[in-house]
Amino acid sequence: MKVRVDPEICQGHGVCHMTAPDLFLLRDEDGQAYVESEEISPGQQELARLAADSCPERAITAD
Ligand code: SF4
Repeated sequence: MKVRVDPEICQGHGVCHMTAPDLFLLRDEDGQAYVESEEISPGQQELARLAADSCPERAITAD
């Protein structure tokens, strides 16, 4: 599974980080989310999907 945050859509709400703090980090300068690695291990897939569903802007793709 690959996870991406679209920087054009992300508004920095931080909900993804609250849902999955190990997967989604927030940039200090503007609060936008990013992932350190797009490749997600099988054990993290459920959490990644949950975070994608939690994003109010639908900025996260997890597929
Ligand atoms: S929840 Fe969505 S809009 Fe908010 S920081 Fe995460 S990716 Fe960005």
